[in-house]
Amino acid sequence: MAVSKTKYIFVTGGVLSGLGKGITAASLANTLKARGLSVNIQKCDVYLNVDAGTLNPAEHGECYVTSDGAETDLDLGHYERFLDIELTRTSSLMSGRVFLELIQAEREGKFLGKSVQFIPHLTSAIADKIIEAGKGFDVHFVEIGGTVGDIEANHFIEAIREMPNIVGSENCLYMHLVYMPHIQTSKEFKTKPAQNSVRELRSYGISPDVLAVRSDSDPGDTKALGDKLSIFTGVPVAGIAFLPNAATVYEVPLSLEDQNISDYVVDKLGLKNKKPDHKAFRQVVASATDIGRKKVKIGVVAKYLDNEDTYMSVFEALKAAAWNAKVDPEIHWIDAEKITKKNVASKLKKLDGILVPGGFGLRGLEGKIIAARYAMDAKMPYLGLCLGMQMAVVAFARKHLDQEATSLEMDEQADVPVIHLMEDQRTISSKGGTMRLGDYECVLKKGSLARKVYAADSVLERHRHRYEFNNDYREALEEKGLVISGTSPDGELVEIIELADHPYFIATQAHPELKSRPTRPHPLFSGFVKSLKN
Ligand code: GLN
Repeated sequence: MAVSKTKYIFVTGGVLSGLGKGITAASLANTLKARGLSVNIQKCDVYLNVDAGTLNPAEHGECYVTSDGAETDLDLGHYERFLDIELTRTSSLMSGRVFLELIQAEREGKFLGKSVQFIPHLTSAIADKIIEAGKGFDVHFVEIGGTVGDIEANHFIEAIREMPNIVGSENCLYMHLVYMPHIQTSKEFKTKPAQNSVRELRSYGISPDVLAVRSDSDPGDTKALGDKLSIFTGVPVAGIAFLPNAATVYEVPLSLEDQNISDYVVDKLGLKNKKPDHKAFRQVVASATDIGRKKVKIGVVAKYLDNEDTYMSVFEALKAAAWNAKVDPEIHWIDAEKITKKNVASKLKKLDGILVPGGFGLRGLEGKIIAARYAMDAKMPYLGLCLGMQMAVVAFARKHLDQEATSLEMDEQADVPVIHLMEDQRTISSKGGTMRLGDYECVLKKGSLARKVYAADSVLERHRHRYEFNNDYREALEEKGLVISGTSPDGELVEIIELADHPYFIATQAHPELKSRPTRPHPLFSGFVKSLKN
């Protein structure tokens, strides 16, 4: 058996999905980082997709892009925000990728003569990926997507069951997240679903060391519930944490800490314990829950409505900036498809500012252009992200240059394509991982608002797009007053645009929301929120 320096924490979920497994894993990781330990974290997703780039965000939530350009599950966003680290593609493992690589290896003759099987071939391939991602860290978290019992998660569950044999049982810990319903009629919390879920996990050969118990309301005194759960699940009382809904997700690490779960985990894994430093997160929670602040009304002009998961990082970035500026962000969803030239003023004038996020496809594009034009004319603060930048350019071009201006994404035969397909995208037919992805440098123009809010002369931002500003129209648009305030270092790609005679009109080709942290709001979002207060 190889000697492992890395400790592994495997996180599974039961009873039902959507309980916040990613947040719970990230929260425990946060408390370990607060003790000075180095932590990494990885999500195993059950889908047969190779990555999250081809998933519909309305069903699956936003596609989170890492700095090295991987298209991943939104849980990676939680991980980065809770840990303030930059993850890489090794932190995202989707079933499709493991299958694809395994079958490719089979075709290359790597298993000649052997029958290729789920166990041991697939499970070892998964274990290898886990060990590779954990290398060099004190603790490596592995979250398994879905709920225990789902057929599609079986290979991952089996792989983590085998991990103690590979890296030593003293280096492995299992945390299981369950749900505890409250029955209205009898006014009591019920532990049976949690008991059954642990029994199911045991049937796969895994006995949890830690049980995280989610509930909608506060169970109050948990002594009797903890004792009962401990008897029926075999998890010591000290390893059981109760996690009722919190006012903000950033409270969860503090709640785990208050219940001494982190000390329990550190001791169990034989790690060096230190007094944790939670100053920064306590500050975030204090500002997030500070009631009575001035409200700012932000309109998010989008096509997927009411599902925050679709724009998770945008919302978290807005909240972080608002909390930091000591204002309360009131988000208004504006359905882009319903905006017309006639009704735009009535829909937007009540707002303090508008944000147009990224997106793909035709739906709602005209509405976004009209909204950008409204912000331009009414001098209302505007923040455009990726597609929101492209639509702002179209709005400006329609106002100053040509009514026919458009983006090639809207009309392949466009006469005035101020936004067109990037050079290297024109011959690509594959839809998987082929966009302009990940970190790119952007040089900021002297004297521009962007340079002022960033307080830097060049920045690195993450990208995910196929279309870009068409340089054929650059001079003409600049002549009309469009400020190109950020470009690629060679000056070829337009990255940020702004308007000079406007309180705050900034639109970027990048996705700055991905770099915002609760403890360090992103400058473009902070600048936007501050402009709303004035
Ligand atoms: N659909 C646009 C493009 O591909 C914008 C993408 C985005 O907003 N992420 O360029």
